[in-house]
Amino acid sequence: MSTLSDVAANLHEVLGGLPDGVRLVAVSKFHPAEYIRAAYDAGQRVFGESREQELAQKVNQLPDDIEWHFIGHLQTNKVKYIAPYIDMIEAVDSLKLLREINKQAAAHDRVINVLLELHIAQEATKYGLTPDDCRQLLADGEWRTLHNVHISGLMMMASNTDDEEQIRREFSEGAAFFDEMKSSYFADDASFCERSWGMSHDYRIAVECRSTIVRVGTAIFGPRVY
Ligand SMILES: *Cc1c(COP(=O)(O)O)cnc(C)c1O
Repeated sequence: MSTLSDVAANLHEVLGGLPDGVRLVAVSKFHPAEYIRAAYDAGQRVFGESREQELAQKVNQLPDDIEWHFIGHLQTNKVKYIAPYIDMIEAVDSLKLLREINKQAAAHDRVINVLLELHIAQEATKYGLTPDDCRQLLADGEWRTLHNVHISGLMMMASNTDDEEQIRREFSEGAAFFDEMKSSYFADDASFCERSWGMSHDYRIAVECRSTIVRVGTAIFGPRVY
C-alpha cells in the first residue's frame, strides 16, 4: 500500500526508469488533490484524469501550470466542460467526438491536442479505433478541416495480461501502425509525434516499443479506492 508520503519516492523511481524523450503522465484519477500536490511538489507537472467532474474540482484546487490530460473515454456531451482548459484529450475514438472537440475548442479560441485511441488489444473493450477504422477516419479527410483540433499521435492500451510477449507484440503493432499513419498523412507535420502507451504494469515494455508518453497511476499513487 502506498501512502501520501511514498508519492515522491515512487515518482522518482518511475521517472528514473524512463529514457530521455519519454514523458510521464501521472494518472491521478480517484486520488485526492493532496496526492497530486505531493507529486507536484516533487516536480511533476503532467497529470491524467478520466472523469470530467473530478477533473474540474482538481483544476480549481491546484496550480495553474499543471498540464492536464484527459485519458478516459469522453462522452460528446462532456467535451464542453473540459474544453476551456484541457491540454490533451488522449482517447479520441470517433469522428463525432473529434468534431465536437473542434467546435468547443473554437468557442474558446483554442487548439486542443488529441490522440487517436487505437484498439489492438485482444480484449473486447468497447473503445478505440481498429487500425482499419483509423485508416478510414484519416483517409476521409474531414479532420483536415477541423482547425481547432490537432492530432498529435496515437494512444493505446495493451491487453491486460501477464504475457509479456503478447504485450510486446501489441505495442510493436501500435508502433508500426504509427509509422504507417505518419508517412501516409502526417509526413509534413513534425508535431504528429506522440505514442502514448504504457501503464504501471507494462510501461517498461512500452518504452522498449517506442512509447513517447507513459500513463502511470498505481505505481506512483498506490491502488485506487473506487
Ligand atoms: C487508469 C488508467 C491508467 C493508469 O493505470 P495504472 O495501472 O494505475 O498505472 C492509464 N491509462 C488509462 C487510459 C487509464 O484509464
